[in-house]
Amino acid sequence: MSGAQHTVVIGGGVIGGFTAWYLAQAGHRVTLIEQSQFGKQCSHGNCGYVSPSHVIPLARPGQVLKGLKGMLTTQTALRINPAKLTMLAPWLLKFALRCNSKAMMEAGKACHPLLQSSAALYREVFEQQNMLVDWKTDGLLFVFRDQHEFDAYAESDAWLRKHFDMPAEPFAGTALTQLEPALKPGLAGAWLYRCDAHLRPGKLMSELKRILTAAGVRVLEQTAMKSFAGGNGRAVAVETTGETLTADNFVVAVGAWAPLLQQSLGVKLPIQPGKGYSITMARPKLCPKYPMILEECHVAITPFEEGYRVGSTMEFSGYDTSLNRARLNYLRSGAAEYLHEPTAEPVEEEWYGWRPMTADGIPYIDRSPRFGNVWIAAGHSMLGISMGTGTGKLVAELITGAKPHVDPALYRIGR
Ligand SMILES: Cc1cc2nc3c(=O)[nH]c(=O)nc-3n(C[C@H](O)[C@H](O)[C@H](O)COP(=O)(O)OP(=O)(O)OC[C@H]3O[C@@H](n4cnc5c(N)ncnc54)[C@H](O)[C@@H]3O)c2cc1C
Repeated sequence: MSGAQHTVVIGGGVIGGFTAWYLAQAGHRVTLIEQSQFGKQCSHGNCGYVSPSHVIPLARPGQVLKGLKGMLTTQTALRINPAKLTMLAPWLLKFALRCNSKAMMEAGKACHPLLQSSAALYREVFEQQNMLVDWKTDGLLFVFRDQHEFDAYAESDAWLRKHFDMPAEPFAGTALTQLEPALKPGLAGAWLYRCDAHLRPGKLMSELKRILTAAGVRVLEQTAMKSFAGGNGRAVAVETTGETLTADNFVVAVGAWAPLLQQSLGVKLPIQPGKGYSITMARPKLCPKYPMILEECHVAITPFEEGYRVGSTMEFSGYDTSLNRARLNYLRSGAAEYLHEPTAEPVEEEWYGWRPMTADGIPYIDRSPRFGNVWIAAGHSMLGISMGTGTGKLVAELITGAKPHVDPALYRIGR
């Protein structure tokens, strides 16, 4: 290891974690720094879907109207805090300009290869490293209460089949309640994506830390990046709240915090924290077999081996750290419309996380404009778990000069 290149990865979420993993696999000496605890921010309490089916970004036709409605009430999944409108305006404008079919297709085409490769790489790493993460490959259900919405989804299904070879199977009536007895009778129907899988994010992150440590990666928690030292287009060290770390390469994988490092990176990335909530609890007696998205309210349900999670909401309110009771109640009331036993006791955790939302729904994986040996991997929006392994591998390939397994031009800054 003494002659090996040293890379410092900044950020201990799923993106930084898998970047460190693939760099260590490529023979790099790796140090990962995390300002709080490894895996405890957005990569912790999310819904755990590894979902190649999710190629449609948040910016899609019709979303501007939904966003406007969400300024008037807290009872919608998508909410824009009117008090933060001035601060949010530049990002919202970029987002609004992407809410059309052409941009939606472009984002889908960019995310698809990373989603595909990540799903395959998860299978590989779980098997090879014997990672126990509650990995289940039953698929993912999109459930509709409203007949018109259920029927209209046939159009999205046709679009996903045609452009991404991503078919869903429709279920309705008794076929649906037989497939998933946890659902109430009388719902319009559901579409099943058999290609999707799910896992328990907390377990993913603790197992990832285990394999990183076993591979010799030095993980420094409670250590925040302050700035880079260097000149002439190269960084030589990162100043942290602890030691100063010299290295050959640096990777900034700080999720929603990326815009706060604008000075150091030489670019202000259009990323906003998209706040989501989850409640984790004991499994209900009639626990769903399938993970599912309750489409009209956008509430997501994830059954774990020993637990059960209800998650949702996309709130644009800046770096807001409050745990809002009305938003948590929204998850409970949404689930109650569809499930016999929407919640259970005891509650293990009430949580929020900041999704690193890009305006176009495509992550940034590129060199920093300021330093040629500083790489950025951030902005995975609603799909950071689903794109974790593929992103880590791609960053490692870019740094080591190996042939990239997906086209990096899709994720460049300034696209
Ligand atoms: C309710 C909810 C449900 C979701 N469900 C899914 C899902 O089912 N499937 C899916 O694919 N995605 C899902 N997501 C999105 C997913 O969780 C995120 O895209 C992903 O976790 C982002 O990973 P990350 O590593 O970029 O960010 P994070 O996990 O937030 O990691 C970034 C890390 O950087 C650290 N950091 C920041 N600044 C510094 C600094 N200066 N120095 C050192 N460290 C720093 C932070 O402390 C943090 O730990 C969901 C999100 C939410 C909120």
